[in-house]
Amino acid sequence: MTEQTGNLTFGIIKPDAVRGGKTGAVLQRITDGGFKIRAMKLIHMTKKEAEGFYEVHRERPFFGELTTFMSSGPCAVLALEREGAVKAWRDLMGATDPAKADAGTLRKEFGGSLGENAVHGSDSEENAAIEVSYFFSRLEMV
Ligand code: ATP
Ligand code: MG
Repeated sequence: MTEQTGNLTFGIIKPDAVRGGKTGAVLQRITDGGFKIRAMKLIHMTKKEAEGFYEVHRERPFFGELTTFMSSGPCAVLALEREGAVKAWRDLMGATDPAKADAGTLRKEFGGSLGENAVHGSDSEENAAIEVSYFFSRLEMV
């Protein structure tokens, strides 16, 4: 296995998109975008697991709503590899608020609201490494 942490990011297909039957469409857009899927699984987070993942947002007013939503159903967690993966994945996702996201982005196409915006992506290489290791062991990386 080659470790290429710098080209790695972490993504989630959030519960709204999985519930809405969009998992396959999002995965197609990911592979069309030149990403290699290095790890992938479906999980249903407990509220505590969602709180652990979004720990940096604990003091924000939307923390309760966010973690209740993220633990409301299954989501797909992904380790994605590509050159410039962190930025490329955020570009493909679009702006946080689907109403403000550019045409052709995943959030524009699949997101319903600011709180339920279809996908997550790491915001830095450092956080990508932390987030990948929150969900995947070395054995789960291909
Ligand atoms: P993500 O981390 O999910 O990829 P992001 O980096 O674009 O999204 P963050 O600022 O990290 O945005 O916020 C994390 C998540 O919290 C957002 O994806 C969104 O679902 C939710 N969120 C952000 N701001 C609000 C808000 N004002 N009200 C409700 N939910 C919000
Ligand atoms: Mg974020």
